[in-house]
Amino acid sequence: MTHQLPELPWAKNALEPYITEKTLEFHYGKHHQAYVTNLNNLIPGTPFENASLEEIIVKAEGGIFNNGAQVWNHTFYWNCLTPNGTELPEPKLLDAINRDFGSFEQFKDQFSKAAATLFGAGWAWLVKDEQGKLSIVQESNAGNPMRKGFTPLLTCDVWEHAYYLDKQNRRPDYVTDWWKIVDWKKVSERY
Ligand code: MN
Repeated sequence: MTHQLPELPWAKNALEPYITEKTLEFHYGKHHQAYVTNLNNLIPGTPFENASLEEIIVKAEGGIFNNGAQVWNHTFYWNCLTPNGTELPEPKLLDAINRDFGSFEQFKDQFSKAAATLFGAGWAWLVKDEQGKLSIVQESNAGNPMRKGFTPLLTCDVWEHAYYLDKQNRRPDYVTDWWKIVDWKKVSERY
């Protein structure tokens, strides 16, 4: 099985000024593509030759895990973003956020803190467990919370390649802009 780089759900300049076309040319066109290429080079002759990305995330180790998870994580990240964002999740998810974090503002503060304080490269996630309880999870490098049995609802890529061209070292500024383009409709549908 050959993995493919999926199409973006919007035009490369659609997220400007929050995420620029230049960033997407590298982040999607170079980094995401490289994970796809690396994965396709690594899997032939291994037990993961015909495995889905989800199976790779749960079972693989080393380079196959790192590249497979990064392919999935990036596709998921693009599908967390939209140029036509709304400020709030839909009522069912909003109720759960209020229940599990106290308020939507407290959730945003905690998530922003998780994204800003994650040391080095990685991802901040909003996840739900089997009972529907929400939590915020920090994952380093290619980490994905499906490995721990959680269902991902939302993610923020905090690898430097996600923001360095636009924001240089100012990760908190990237996270502030990232909130403005979250696709709460899709995130709510996942809940
Ligand atoms: Mn990335």
